[in-house]
Amino acid sequence: MSRYFLTTPIYYVTAQPHLGHAYSTITADALARWHRLLGEEVHFLTGTDEHGQKVADKAAAEGKDPQAFVDEIAPLYAKAWDRLGITNDDFIRTTEERHKIGVRELLQRCYDAGDIELDVYKGKYCVACEEYYTDDELDPGDLCRIHRQPVQYYEEENYFFRLSRFQQRLLDWYDAHPGAIKPEFRGNEALGLIRSGLRDFSVSRTSLQWGIPLPWDDKHVAYVWFDALANYITAIGYGTDEERFNTWWPGRHLIGKDIIRHHCVYWPAMLMSAGLEPPAGWAVGGWLLVGGEKMSKTQGNVVNPLDLVDEIGVDGFRYYVLAETPYGNDGDFTAEGLDARYNSDLANNLGNLLSRVATVVGKKCDGVGPAPSPDSPLAAVAASAYADTAKAWDDVQPSRALEATWSLIRATNAYLEANEPWKAEPGPAVDTVMGDALEALRIVSVLASPAVPESAQAVWQRIGMPGNVIDQRLPHAAAWGGYPGGLTVVKGDPLFPRR
Ligand SMILES: [Zn+2]
Repeated sequence: MSRYFLTTPIYYVTAQPHLGHAYSTITADALARWHRLLGEEVHFLTGTDEHGQKVADKAAAEGKDPQAFVDEIAPLYAKAWDRLGITNDDFIRTTEERHKIGVRELLQRCYDAGDIELDVYKGKYCVACEEYYTDDELDPGDLCRIHRQPVQYYEEENYFFRLSRFQQRLLDWYDAHPGAIKPEFRGNEALGLIRSGLRDFSVSRTSLQWGIPLPWDDKHVAYVWFDALANYITAIGYGTDEERFNTWWPGRHLIGKDIIRHHCVYWPAMLMSAGLEPPAGWAVGGWLLVGGEKMSKTQGNVVNPLDLVDEIGVDGFRYYVLAETPYGNDGDFTAEGLDARYNSDLANNLGNLLSRVATVVGKKCDGVGPAPSPDSPLAAVAASAYADTAKAWDDVQPSRALEATWSLIRATNAYLEANEPWKAEPGPAVDTVMGDALEALRIVSVLASPAVPESAQAVWQRIGMPGNVIDQRLPHAAAWGGYPGGLTVVKGDPLFPRR
């Protein structure tokens, strides 16, 4: 059985879960669900990044011990993901023992390989980015371009990872693994970073307390990248359970465009140094902007996804973030856009199809769903909808996948309008049309389940199918003719009441 290990970035606990976190986590969840439908063995990981100066500062400002502080925030993420129907198999916190052991193992291997060396670092440092910058990377007044705040001058003895030694090895690896980064234009960004020359980066701090001490020099604490990136391997047993690690690695990372450098340049080089395989792939998303701006506290435009879920439902929210923006590009979140998507695609298309099918079956077929016709004109539409949906999920393009799935919904609505079964006398002609529509709904519920899991299950049940839609397996479940007929069809309340 093929295995699929998928990760989200781990989220830094200085902020509560917001729309940006929800966007990447929902996208990853939909991918994980799709791959489970394909019958793959899926391991889906998310978690929280809990060390570093910012966390220590924030805890101190609140008069708390850093561990007590992170213990309060991490569960907010777990709860949010629960509310959004996220099916992660594991949740890693970087303050866990399994993680600390694995990080020290990774550091030690890179140190033993000679790729980590002591050096003196002098430079301008943005505390918020946890990154040193050169003058030409800063705005006038020594302002960080991301945080719009002045950087600080630091001079300290650091251990450095000799990234500069890995330029050719990285280029060779990417050359041998075309398409490893999706979409392609984001892959080109990563290659551009590598070609423009690689600087060694600092892997330790002596000024920092809240972190993992280096195994060979405990005056130094591991600095963000070795600590945070390593979660992808420590969670699956690196340093603690080699057999489990070898079962799942290499995995695939879903990331945001702002962390390409760390995930697509630093991380594979770190793994190479430690004698491990680079990741199997990366999918790089854009930002979900709010009113054209990156969400931030200073902009005052932070959107809490859970507020939206209360209003529009889990599936309404999930569908919107997946369908609205081509993955890889920036999207713009608006309340009007959310309502418009909901009304057009969910209420008017899927909801309306289910409701009219259940109504006609109730009136003309005694509430019992007929079997579809093997040579229905919808059979070919369903086959191409499946092929296009599968291709798009494989390309990590949820918006295109949903567009393809919804093409079957639209075709089925048009088929009903052309045949007008609600005007016809009960009999074989009506039965054929309704059997075809029920079969289309059955296939749609399977194909749509990664995006709208609760609604897909509701459709599945209302057309009388037994069991759970998530237990279906593709491609078999998308093959025309699976609706057996003779099942009780239930109308129920509108699945998506219009807004
Ligand atoms: Zn900054």
